[in-house]
Amino acid sequence: MKLLQDRVVVVTGASRGIGEGIALKLAEQGAHIAFSYVSSDEKAKALEEKLQSLGVKAKAYKSHAGLFHECEAMVNDVVKEFGTVDVCVNNAGISRDNLLLRMTPEQWDEVMTTNLKSVFNMTKQVIRPMMKAKKGSIINMSSIVGMRGNAGQSSYAASKAGIIGFTKSIAAELGSRNIRCNAIAPGFIETDMTKYLKEGEASQKFLSQIPLGRFGSTEEIANVTLFLASDMSSYVTGQVISTCGGLNM
Ligand code: NAP
Repeated sequence: MKLLQDRVVVVTGASRGIGEGIALKLAEQGAHIAFSYVSSDEKAKALEEKLQSLGVKAKAYKSHAGLFHECEAMVNDVVKEFGTVDVCVNNAGISRDNLLLRMTPEQWDEVMTTNLKSVFNMTKQVIRPMMKAKKGSIINMSSIVGMRGNAGQSSYAASKAGIIGFTKSIAAELGSRNIRCNAIAPGFIETDMTKYLKEGEASQKFLSQIPLGRFGSTEEIANVTLFLASDMSSYVTGQVISTCGGLNM
């Protein structure tokens, strides 16, 4: 028996990177996948087909996670098409790094909307079917930067710290309904978001700070997501799991 046989999973921001890895891993374990993206039409179509070839139901939604009405429309359609939502992975995120002196209000707002408001938008929608089913797992993608801070990333760090406060509050609010809510705090994971770090001159400096001595893979984040999505973690809620090669300790 697969760990997520016939569970319905929603993943935001899955056309590339960590979200794509999560969608594939969870589908391999029998989950039906509804996922969102904003601009990568071809990649989203390719992923939708790849997921379907694994024998599960899959649907791509061009839906901005930072916009409340788009999340509402997406989740309403998922409930209609898939029947319910068992797991929600709030993964969509961006960085618009800049020193505070140079950061514009627009840059700040864009990061807070896509990274933090998105988590409110989606969670508010998915708890309705979850409360009805008396079960659910919500997984929010934070970052170790949300716990440690990082020069040049004040907006990103604030959004990721906000996710942690939200996660713990929702875990407290909805535990009695058998709805769990946890966060993952990745370190440096190899995706488009971190390409500039891996290829830049400073990459040795970053690597020297990581006890395991390497960047992580999207599959390594997907493995932790699978644990939190499945009944393997049935007594885990309100937690933040650093997945960072030991960088955050
Ligand atoms: P990525 O490679 O840049 O991919 C971002 C994904 O999010 C893409 O699929 C993108 O869609 C989608 N997206 C962006 N804005 C969106 C929006 N408003 N609504 C819906 N989807 C949206 O990023 P990643 O590295 O995989 O990061 C995924 C998550 O992990 C983010 O929350 C990030 O902050 C977090 N994280 C990453 C790292 C790391 O080292 N990579 C570390 C810590 C935390 P399009 O393709 O259409 O643009």
